Amino acid sequence: QIVTRFAPSPTGYLHIGGARTALFNWLYAKHTGGKMLLRIEDTDRARSTEAAVAALIDGLNWLGLAWDGEPVSQFGRVKRHQEVVAEMLARGTAYKCYCTPQELDEMREKARAEGRPPRYDGRWRDRDASEAPAGVAPAIRLRAPLDGETVIEDQVQGRVVFPNKDLDDLVLLRSDGVPTYMLAVVVDDHDMGVTHIIRGDDHLTNAARQKLIYQAMDWDVPVMAHIPLIHGPDGAKLSKRHGALGAEAYRAMGYLPAAMRNYLARLGWSHGDDEIMSTEQMIEWFGLEAIGKSPSRFDFKKLENLNGHYMRATPDAELLAHWKACLAHVEGGASVLDWMAGPGNADKVLAALPGLKERAKTLVELTDSASYLWRQRPLDVEEKAAALLDADGKAILAGLLPLLSADAEWSLTSTETIVKAYAEAQGLKLGKVAQPLRAALTGRSTSPGIYDVLVVLGKDEALGRIADQAA
Ligand code: GLU
Repeated sequence: QIVTRFAPSPTGYLHIGGARTALFNWLYAKHTGGKMLLRIEDTDRARSTEAAVAALIDGLNWLGLAWDGEPVSQFGRVKRHQEVVAEMLARGTAYKCYCTPQELDEMREKARAEGRPPRYDGRWRDRDASEAPAGVAPAIRLRAPLDGETVIEDQVQGRVVFPNKDLDDLVLLRSDGVPTYMLAVVVDDHDMGVTHIIRGDDHLTNAARQKLIYQAMDWDVPVMAHIPLIHGPDGAKLSKRHGALGAEAYRAMGYLPAAMRNYLARLGWSHGDDEIMSTEQMIEWFGLEAIGKSPSRFDFKKLENLNGHYMRATPDAELLAHWKACLAHVEGGASVLDWMAGPGNADKVLAALPGLKERAKTLVELTDSASYLWRQRPLDVEEKAAALLDADGKAILAGLLPLLSADAEWSLTSTETIVKAYAEAQGLKLGKVAQPLRAALTGRSTSPGIYDVLVVLGKDEALGRIADQAA
């Protein structure tokens, strides 16, 4: 059975690159009928707060990326990491290094002076512990091969070769007994039964060092797939402005999880020319072989268009649930949620949704264009709308008011018949009548269909708003 894992370091949010990595691991596990495990790499105690872990989990939950089993805490496995190092010492694939910090500094200085990368010179590889200086606690280092090469047959990058002379004897256990990150990742992946490591290609050089640790323990090396990072639309490193944000920021910007999944999947993976793919289709089609080798570019416009598509395709009740989740995370959202909870208002929202979602690309836009529902009389009128409420516009409203008042039915067809008949009788184009009506009802120059708005507001409220602006 295939086992993938997502192994984020809790930094306070689930950043977009991490979200994509999680998605790829999730898709691959689903595609193969395998499992995706979650490991929190929480060994940096200063950063790994409970809140940071909660933010990661919140992001994954929002994106609908469920992992299998309990999350594993890397920090909680320190004892096991130490045990493995003891075993490597016993096997002779690791050794104690009694270098003082000064000696290590000198080594680094020398390398710098000679213009080569700093590298441990192996001075304790073959020395006996009896030569150890008094009072120095040893670090434990990997006895790495001195020549030959380490090859990663990466599923995305292809064959990547590292000359072993460039990989020095890395520290496995610091002199204070704390395991290094490099060691912990390998031990955890092995113990968790991970068969496939899918992660950002910023970890590619780590992969070579990690492979040496697997070999030192005679463990199977998992299949690896290092995916190119996400860049900004300009091809440069992804900046905040261009999308380097946490999942919660996308929720607050009004994106739907399904749209995010679709968009993120296409960032680096493709299935022919398909742009829009349901999650089921992505699971069916996903494979490591179709992951691209070059960095993908994050494009807010594309994400927006895709999101608009998903909004229109999502059933109203479900869309409302996502909308509320978004409102719960944006400034000013609480008062809208309060209003929605008022008697009859949820029905109003559901009645208005079909018209509203036609024009909104995000839930934030939806909130804005729906605001006519809860804004109070007399309405604030935007500048463009105010221009429609000139003397002519006000006179039109005054003419319409008694006709609409007399309408007992108050339906899409009855209101449409009245407005059209009035325009005809006055020899006016329909738009000439509809525009001031729109301005009076919504305070805006654009809105969903005008009969829709009349009916959703209800007769009393609609007539009140018209009267507020009529001459
Ligand atoms: N914790 C690492 C990160 O967040 C990932 C390590 C791995 O996937 O091996 O970048």
